[in-house]
Amino acid sequence: MINLKNMIDSTQNIVFFGGAGVSTESGIPDFRSVDGLYSHKYKYQPEEMLSVDFFINNTAEFYDFYRDKMIYPLVKPNKAHIALAELEKLGKLKAIITQNIDGLHQMAGSRKVLELHGSVNCNNCVNCKAFYDVKIITANKSIPRCTCGGVIKPDVVLYGEGLDSEVLNEAIRFIRAADMLIVGGTSLNVYPAAGLMNYYKGNKLVLINKSATSFDSNANLIINESIGKVLGDII
Ligand code: ZN
Repeated sequence: MINLKNMIDSTQNIVFFGGAGVSTESGIPDFRSVDGLYSHKYKYQPEEMLSVDFFINNTAEFYDFYRDKMIYPLVKPNKAHIALAELEKLGKLKAIITQNIDGLHQMAGSRKVLELHGSVNCNNCVNCKAFYDVKIITANKSIPRCTCGGVIKPDVVLYGEGLDSEVLNEAIRFIRAADMLIVGGTSLNVYPAAGLMNYYKGNKLVLINKSATSFDSNANLIINESIGKVLGDII
């Protein structure tokens, strides 16, 4: 019987690809789940409020929602984040590719983290490009502004914006070169997840997700359990 620990023990080039499920176990709601962000507190749907047009045209309302629903200053990495950081220290894990924007992998000690959708910890002035960390957003009750007067924009991919091509290309390079690909906390239904999966050509594809995914038929090992429990148990 195939066993995750045995697979990891015999592999030196692992890439991890993670989705919202990795963060939900730290208490961050899944943006797309019905029980996640969808609340009747706001006049608009989350997808609209998180669009680049809304950011430009309704900046104050964008920030009300963004501060309320997208930033979680008190959350901590869970067992999944910690185990992945440990696998990197052991030289086995080469990169984490994540769809999450919370920075929890870095907080757990991971170094090579490719954030496909950006990070709440990176913010830039739209005029002079000056960098600001998340405190400029959380400490501000209205629209955060640069010392130059420009509006500060989170470096997260909003609806209507494309992914950063450098990050995407690097993710593709890591997946192509991977001996083992562990995918966790994602149903793999959402772009670009499904597309990225096609670059993996190895025979150690592990899917860890509480429910079925679109790639179950391609997987060498499927574990329908909590990602924190599964990864926590192998380290
Ligand atoms: Zn500026």
